Amino acid sequence: MLTPELDEFIVRMPKVELHIHLEGAIAPRTLLELAHQNGIELPARDLAGVEQLFRYRNFGEFLTVFMAMTRAIVRGEDFARLAYEIGLDLAAQQVCYAEVMISPMQHIRRGMDLYEAIAGAAEGFARVERETGTRCRIALDYGRQYGPDLAWHVLDVARKAQPLGVVGWSIGGNEIGYPPEPFAEIFAAARAANFGLMAHAGEVVGPQSVWGAIECLGAVRLGHGIRSIDDPHLLVELVRRGVVLDVCPSSNLHTGAVASWDEHPLRTLYDAGVLVTINSDDPTFFHTTITEEYRRAVTHFGFNANDLTAMTLNAARATFMPPDERTTLCARIDAETTALRRELGV
Ligand SMILES: [Zn+2]
Repeated sequence: MLTPELDEFIVRMPKVELHIHLEGAIAPRTLLELAHQNGIELPARDLAGVEQLFRYRNFGEFLTVFMAMTRAIVRGEDFARLAYEIGLDLAAQQVCYAEVMISPMQHIRRGMDLYEAIAGAAEGFARVERETGTRCRIALDYGRQYGPDLAWHVLDVARKAQPLGVVGWSIGGNEIGYPPEPFAEIFAAARAANFGLMAHAGEVVGPQSVWGAIECLGAVRLGHGIRSIDDPHLLVELVRRGVVLDVCPSSNLHTGAVASWDEHPLRTLYDAGVLVTINSDDPTFFHTTITEEYRRAVTHFGFNANDLTAMTLNAARATFMPPDERTTLCARIDAETTALRRELGV
């Protein structure tokens, strides 16, 4: 039950966000302003119009809207503004560390220079870190529907941008018809270049997509991974290997990946010992925030302060930051949540 004390704990506890898309976290007002500035026609003219667009019946519709909206973001300085606003919003929610995904092909296919986009985002995040202490790092989430060949250029840019805080390599986009296996080589190269490996898998496609991501790609973190629930042997393997599932409950409801809260497998995954974390995915597109996702984890799945702390520590341990920084982050979260729980009696 979400008591006032537990709610206060959720608001004040230090958090880690591992699954959030830069383009999916843009404030609707910023989206409209950027579109206006850059002379881009959007399928919405005002805030009410944007709200109307954010109602999807399935993952395909969501992806179409997502791709139409990202066209508003054009210049490096747009990325800087976006990153700054998103970072401030995360900092206000006591997120002390976040890995924010950028969808490279959304920008490259419009003729944008990917390095300029990343450098812009890095500049915005650096400003957030100076002003609030919240650290945001970048992961590139390659759209699997573009196929493996074009990914090599993206990986080259990612390597060049490593000093700017690019720490992760991922595939996302449309899972249906685009299995992980053809990306094995590019993931091996990303691993050799010291990127943390993750993949969207088991969101709308079943266990075979998750098997592919962990076996062929060597992904140590999975975006969603919720369909793993359909394969008991896979669950055992996820636990044995310590694979982390970055779960985004509201996203799954909005895209129709899960039909209802009652059918969402988060609780079962957690009880089976799978390392799960709670994340917002595309907060603007799914009318949520990471704080709200923590609340919903209590109201829909019955988690308590102990569970929420455990999931936050799962996230802290699964970050792609250097090991010594990770240890410091975990110790900080542990100390702060312990003190807060004592103060609030939760
Ligand atoms: Zn995602």
